[in-house]
Amino acid sequence: MTSEIAYKVDTPHPREERVNLLGLSPAKLEQFFAELGEKRFRVSQVLKWIHQRGVTDFERMTDLSRSLRTKLAEIAEVRPPELVSDHLSEDGTRKWLVRTDGGDCVEMVLIPEQGRGTLCVSSQIGCSLDCSFCATGKQGFSRNLSAAEIIGQVWVALDSFQAFGPRPDRPVTNVVMMGMGEPLMNFDNVVDAMNLMMDDCAYGLSKRRVTLSTAGVVPQLDRLGDVTDVSLAISLHAPNNELRDELVPINRKYPLEQLIESAGNYLAKLPDTHRKVTVEYTLIGGVNDRPEHARQLAQLMKALPCKINLIPFNPFPNAGYERVSGNALYRFRDILTRAGHTVTVRTTRGDDIAAACGQLAGKFNDRTRRKARHEARYRRQEEQEQPVKMVGMEG
Ligand code: SAH
Repeated sequence: MTSEIAYKVDTPHPREERVNLLGLSPAKLEQFFAELGEKRFRVSQVLKWIHQRGVTDFERMTDLSRSLRTKLAEIAEVRPPELVSDHLSEDGTRKWLVRTDGGDCVEMVLIPEQGRGTLCVSSQIGCSLDCSFCATGKQGFSRNLSAAEIIGQVWVALDSFQAFGPRPDRPVTNVVMMGMGEPLMNFDNVVDAMNLMMDDCAYGLSKRRVTLSTAGVVPQLDRLGDVTDVSLAISLHAPNNELRDELVPINRKYPLEQLIESAGNYLAKLPDTHRKVTVEYTLIGGVNDRPEHARQLAQLMKALPCKINLIPFNPFPNAGYERVSGNALYRFRDILTRAGHTVTVRTTRGDDIAAACGQLAGKFNDRTRRKARHEARYRRQEEQEQPVKMVGMEG
């Protein structure tokens, strides 16, 4: 053996060539070990070390053979996203900012409630859909998160609690893909990460406690039921196409009827009956909160087994929309309930740390021109408002 070859064998792979085992789904980890000539039981061993014990150092994975540990240290890594900040709200909501490869940051939020903790996870850096009332959309879009970066958010949250392993008071009992991004625009990575959430050797969450929320990317929703059986939420926000075209622009491509049909087909593919789709409806003052909207929605949703979740709009700078009034909110809810629907109202949590729905903005470079366009529009609006104020002052 020449010294040159010996050098190559001994030198660990550079970081960018290493496989990050954190993001490998059970199926992909099995393939990885098969290629190394290792037995299948390595999959459950390594999954447990990484996801249940929070161990990233192969040396500490003591039930692996010494030679395998050495091999893994050369060619692989377990690298979660880097924790940048950690905020605790007065109401117990906790928000983390993590840095991903390339330096962009994303946020995730944990909402503790009696007996459960719901972690809201991001699927993309920014979002390409540009819903008119969502702060993430206004920031533009950078890229899809890798499966390691998605599951890494769960890993980092548990790591901050030092809460790996089965504990009676687990801080994370539910995961919702309702952070930054549109999960169905990052289909494969989101499915891999959700498979890890549900795997008994990883986080072991039941399919009812993992929820994918979509604004309605119908072709991908049509495929979803073939690969997973997680809970589904659809972001409706309007009871007719005219209004929805304005609030959720992807509606112009895949209108309401198609979305509702596709969601119904998803339910039909699930092995268990009695599952329902959650319909999210963000109530925006004077925009989609009138009694006739509620009546239209009540009628429309007869077509789908569902529960309706009303979300009061959470304002953010330059949003151009207002929160629904208390009266309008309860009137809206009552119309739906009287029509026989199951309705819940999402209470706003984590307002003081900007952790509420639609307020997650992260810190990243927009690779589209959307952020700049929105900012130019705010400036124009401010300029137009300026002379009016001056006239008022002079008068
Ligand atoms: N892209 C996915 C998931 C991310 S958003 C989707 O659209 O479903 C999670 C939920 O929060 C969606 O229903 C979204 O419409 C809602 N939301 C976004 N901005 C909001 C805001 N400012 N106030 C209240 N809800 C908002």
